[in-house]
Amino acid sequence: MDETHEEVTHSSSTPESVIQVIEKRIKENQEKIITVKGWCKNCGVCAAVCPLKILKLDEEGFPELSDQEKCSSCGLCELMCPDFAIAVPGFRKKKKK
Ligand code: SF4
Ligand code: SF4
Repeated sequence: MDETHEEVTHSSSTPESVIQVIEKRIKENQEKIITVKGWCKNCGVCAAVCPLKILKLDEEGFPELSDQEKCSSCGLCELMCPDFAIAVPGFRKKKKK
């Protein structure tokens, strides 16, 4: 479990604290997608809508990219997640421009 997942699954995590963690990770630009495991219900919608078919669910049912390089940061997985549990830093940066 990485740092983001630990921070956002802590029992005291509030929406504000989760947003702060996501914003920090977006600034650091560490990964193509950020999963908020504490909010993810393992439904698979994000994987189903990925047009490039590179988003899969791992053995625990959480989304993971099979190929980081291929992700176009289209943002569809973030837009379609019913639980606000996935963020796409590249997509958010494009929206701000
Ligand atoms: S759509 Fe959202 S809740 Fe469903 S598996 Fe993907 S990240 Fe988790
Ligand atoms: S941002 Fe687009 S290409 Fe990247 S994982 Fe999400 S749906 Fe797939």
